[in-house]
Amino acid sequence: MPIDRSFQTTWKQTETHRNHSVWHSKTSELGIHGTRVAVDFDECTGCMKCLKLCPEEVFELLEVSSSLLKADPVNESACLDCLACELVCPEEAIFIMRKPQESDTLSALLD
Ligand code: SF4
Ligand code: SF4
Repeated sequence: MPIDRSFQTTWKQTETHRNHSVWHSKTSELGIHGTRVAVDFDECTGCMKCLKLCPEEVFELLEVSSSLLKADPVNESACLDCLACELVCPEEAIFIMRKPQESDTLSALLD
């Protein structure tokens, strides 16, 4: 299931982890890490596509348990809003917070 893009209004911020917020809903297990660069840990498979693509090294691979790897947005403040990670993620586990004029991915990329 794709990341819930309304998590900031419908999920609760429950903790801070490595300088970013962690959000939970009633049904989430691992939660969403990050706000400007948000990764749904329940959907992320640790495929590393976003890590390899990101020009700013926003993500680090986090081992949450034995052989369970997640893309942790440890450097979300460095994000350039290029949206490449959001597009490449096969699980639709990433959401980049849009600026007001960037309502969808395609128009943002064409700007
Ligand atoms: S591309 Fe998606 S599934 Fe792969 S590591 Fe990044 S967030 Fe996880
Ligand atoms: S939008 Fe671009 S700069 Fe920001 S985290 Fe994704 S790939 Fe990195």
